[in-house]
Amino acid sequence: MQGLMQDWPLTVDKILDHAKNWHPHREVVTRSVEGPIVRISYADLHARAKRVSSALQGWGVKTGDRIATLAWNTGRHMEVWYGIMGIGAVCHTLNPRLFPEQLAYIINHAEDRIIFVDMTFLPLLEAVLPHCPSVERVVVLTDEWHMPATKLPKAECYELVLAEASEDVTWGGFDEKTACGLCYTSGTTGNPKGVLYSHRSNFIHTLLGMQSTVLGPSPKEVILPVVPMFHANAWGIAFAGPAAGSKLVMPGARMDGAAIYELIEAEGVTFSAAVPTVWQGLLAHLREHKLKIPTVKRVLIGGSAVPESLIRAFNDEFDIEVLQGWGMTETSPIGTLSNLTPELAALPYDQQMKWRIKQGMPPLGVELKLKNYAGQDMPHDGTTYGRLMVRGPTIAGAYFKGDGGEILDNEGYFDTGDVSTIDEHGFMQITDRAKDVIKSGGEWISSIEIENIAVGHPKVELAAVIGMHHPKWDERPLLVIKLKPGETEDKQEHLAFLEGKIAKWWMPDDVVFVDDIPLGATGKIDKKLVRERLKSFIDG
Ligand code: ADP
Repeated sequence: MQGLMQDWPLTVDKILDHAKNWHPHREVVTRSVEGPIVRISYADLHARAKRVSSALQGWGVKTGDRIATLAWNTGRHMEVWYGIMGIGAVCHTLNPRLFPEQLAYIINHAEDRIIFVDMTFLPLLEAVLPHCPSVERVVVLTDEWHMPATKLPKAECYELVLAEASEDVTWGGFDEKTACGLCYTSGTTGNPKGVLYSHRSNFIHTLLGMQSTVLGPSPKEVILPVVPMFHANAWGIAFAGPAAGSKLVMPGARMDGAAIYELIEAEGVTFSAAVPTVWQGLLAHLREHKLKIPTVKRVLIGGSAVPESLIRAFNDEFDIEVLQGWGMTETSPIGTLSNLTPELAALPYDQQMKWRIKQGMPPLGVELKLKNYAGQDMPHDGTTYGRLMVRGPTIAGAYFKGDGGEILDNEGYFDTGDVSTIDEHGFMQITDRAKDVIKSGGEWISSIEIENIAVGHPKVELAAVIGMHHPKWDERPLLVIKLKPGETEDKQEHLAFLEGKIAKWWMPDDVVFVDDIPLGATGKIDKKLVRERLKSFIDG
């Protein structure tokens, strides 16, 4: 027997409709690319998003067409995002940190028809577009006074386009499984692959994100998503914010410590989300200028492992709760969060740290398990490593155009490529990406765990651990360190710092000091490049 409730397609246009109807005056505040802080209400943002839709329809855009954005987190980017999705077209968020060849590859692969671009990225697009025949038109996200000269044919000025467009457009009316967003994984191996979100998956992800153990947004919350909309949908905040009627504060092109501090202070930010490197920058700024950020109650940190030193700094110096999140483009991206259970929260703070550095538990809607390479389930004992497998309505079932073939196992689980443990409290801990794990004498050494301790040394700015070839053990860990400015090199000091904190056989065989540890397109350490640069060293 079937239930008798209404069929109400879960499409994301309803999220912005809801914000307009019930939180019309709440604002989206942006540090604009032109410079000044600009503010718009959800009601006005909704009206302008509708104009985007009618401009697109005027250009012949139909359901399923891919329309790209190459843009910072701004109110305009949100208008474009909803304007595209509302008429059933697919919003393809381009990551400007990709190399030009990778950008050209994904624009061609997606067959993008139109690209909305921030002025900052115009030179990049000018270099890339001659290689992208599918692109018919470029819209520069600015007004006519700031419209830069460009060699691109068919470049339009966003504000002029909007001024001429009508608000009279109907959104929705299509199946909830219609494609809605497209985001390519940065492809540390092989070509980037497209994750194609549906309206339904994004709507469900929004509800999942609204759980109090996840983003837990409310109309009282002022949320600063530093994590870019082009990196796994700003972790869902551009949906969950309007869904809850939260004020959003968009950092635009500036994500340095000083700029982030200014926004937090001026707008009364209560909650923010970013990768660890952004937080390190903010902390350095706060410490240097002896500043506090009392409005901020919680920060969500994820995208790569969160070092203990960062959790402690926020807690001890600023009285801010750190919530660690794990996820990936393929998981929309929320996968797990490090909320302590009541039992763990009752422990003294120092003892809680063992769990605070773990990635935690999935919210309702994400299923998670550990398997070995033979596909057998592995125990949740906190020590057995396994491949982390995920399943659920917000998890990729295939890549765009079938790239990579079948990606689910016979139980419908997706292999994340992460190696992890799950303990008796249900806390998952990433020990490595499968390709970064150091295989020493048949055992695995977690590069992440060593990095997290090494970076806690006061002289260290960034630390990476990679495997170097060893004739007997196969691989041994090598600690790569970028010191803070003005600090002097002393290998022994860093090895001594690890002693007693990791197993003896995990001790790196050597330490190298480098001027730069490269970060990839999503702000994480690019281990592949670190390995390439130290090739002669690690090959022995
Ligand atoms: P990319 O693959 O381009 O880096 P993703 O954001 O999809 O982009 O990366 C997802 C990966 O990032 C995960 O598979 C995992 O290895 C890593 N990751 C994300 N969050 C965490 C975390 N809190 N701790 C450790 N690793 C993390």
